[in-house]
Amino acid sequence: MKALVAVKRVVDYNVKVRVKADKTGVELANVKMAMNPFCEIAVEEAVRLKEKGIVTEIVVVTVGPTAAQEQLRTAMALGADRGILVETAEEVQPLAIAKILKGICDQEQPQLIILGKQAIDGDNNQTGQMLAALAGYAQGTFASVVKIEGGKAQVTREIDGGLQTVELSLPAVVTTDLRLNEPRYASLPNIMKAKKKPLDTKSPADYGVNAAPTVKTLKVDPPADRKAGIKVKTVEELVDKLKNEAKVI
Ligand code: AMP
Repeated sequence: MKALVAVKRVVDYNVKVRVKADKTGVELANVKMAMNPFCEIAVEEAVRLKEKGIVTEIVVVTVGPTAAQEQLRTAMALGADRGILVETAEEVQPLAIAKILKGICDQEQPQLIILGKQAIDGDNNQTGQMLAALAGYAQGTFASVVKIEGGKAQVTREIDGGLQTVELSLPAVVTTDLRLNEPRYASLPNIMKAKKKPLDTKSPADYGVNAAPTVKTLKVDPPADRKAGIKVKTVEELVDKLKNEAKVI
């Protein structure tokens, strides 16, 4: 079966993001970019299913600027077979991404579509759900276990207070949670091999999608600065401050 994996280029999770002086967004100039961590988990899961002989081909897709090719090459170094870059210099929001992914599903006919549960830049947690709705596919979100058996996908989901296991008919959309797997590192020979794997470049218009934003960001504020702490000398002093200054006990 064919698996489609959607990956997003985001600010590397190790970078301390800074809000632009004019508060229109976060500073992206000269900032290290990387694959969204939940998307790495999505790629890893597809690769493991391929290693088990369940998946036969992994197509990885990203919607973003020319530089997002780097994340496709990373996914191919990890084991994806080919990539599709839907190129656009503009910010594309979840509904338009989901429409583009739906167009790709119509062409590629994957049985399994794996996305991250959320992108760590916008924290939207919307794309997978919107894609499943647009395509009329079953969805298993926040997956911590995925099993494919008898033409169905069994997905164990992390929900409040426990784990829920659902069975999905294929084709299905799965979104990954943190505990699904631990992504591997790409080896140098695989990084070299990935440079030769096929990469198609498309545009949103190729899928009949108008990628213009429908939501406008009014402003972005950094979190309030934390006040400096103090050191207390004794437990009595601590209790006194908690009682009389902070008034929390
Ligand atoms: P979000 O709904 O923005 O939190 O993103 C959830 C997931 O949707 C991500 O982990 C990706 O798998 C996928 N996704 C979001 N944006 C893009 C994009 N620009 N290109 C490809 N996949 C994306």
